[in-house]
Amino acid sequence: MAASFSRDDLREAASPSSFELGERCVDSVANLRLRNGALHATVHGEEPFRVRLGIGPDGLDGLCTCPDADGGAFCPHLVAVGLAKLVGAGASTDVEGEDAATAELRGHLTQFERRELVELLLDLAVEDEQVEAGLRAATLRRLLLPEKPPTEATIERHVNALIPPAGAPDHLTALDYAERIAELADMTVEAQEAGLNAAAVWVGQYSVTRIEEVGLDVPDTDGELAEAVFDLAQAHAEACAELPDASTGLASWLVDRQLGTVFGDCFVVADYADALGEAGIAAYGGLLHEHATNGWAADVARLSNDLATFRRTDP
Ligand SMILES: [Zn+2]
Repeated sequence: MAASFSRDDLREAASPSSFELGERCVDSVANLRLRNGALHATVHGEEPFRVRLGIGPDGLDGLCTCPDADGGAFCPHLVAVGLAKLVGAGASTDVEGEDAATAELRGHLTQFERRELVELLLDLAVEDEQVEAGLRAATLRRLLLPEKPPTEATIERHVNALIPPAGAPDHLTALDYAERIAELADMTVEAQEAGLNAAAVWVGQYSVTRIEEVGLDVPDTDGELAEAVFDLAQAHAEACAELPDASTGLASWLVDRQLGTVFGDCFVVADYADALGEAGIAAYGGLLHEHATNGWAADVARLSNDLATFRRTDP
């Protein structure tokens, strides 16, 4: 989908001072991607903020993790992400706006033989875990094409490399993990859109498994990590809804996530309703009931309340 907004739309949505500040931080926009009719990006300032700019037919609406946006303002980061999209900045494939040194390096690299480049990349990946993660993400994306759906084992290898144990050599921060998990959520959506429902479910589900296995014991002060896991759960839920087989055992899988894991709050029964179907929802209610007596009373009460709310509002 092409961007359906203009510079003037951004100017109109933001206050003059927000717009001006936003213009100045276009270069700080990273990891810009379009998903479900919204632009997602990170804006690196004094601290990194995660931004979601909706560009639907009803106009622009945005969310940002900065304090300005907390009060409902159209903050400079939203402006910056919109402008970055319009000028084509912030994406890794962008060639325009490349500085002279990078352009020179690009020129030299095009002279390398393919085999040499492969060896060079592998050497760099062995030395630097971030490089390996980038290569793993790029290859998994390539594999998630209709012509060559990857096996579960292949998906698992790539996800393992993308989500290493916390405290590993490079000391990934919550934001690093959040960006990688957001990327896996994107891949889950993309695989599903490409019709690879089984692969989509497995990317989502195995990523959740891996996150739990690794523990991700890093301080998540801004909630970036929880937000990314929430996106991943939603993508997984949507993928499950497209795959009839996925409903088997899904109710107990969901209850286990909600009651036994750090990111339990990211898994919401209403998101999984389509995948569960009526029988699954009934099974889910029954499982909650069973757990009410074994030390989960408070959590079960909250989840039962969510379920009751969902049942009331679902037409
Ligand atoms: Zn902001």
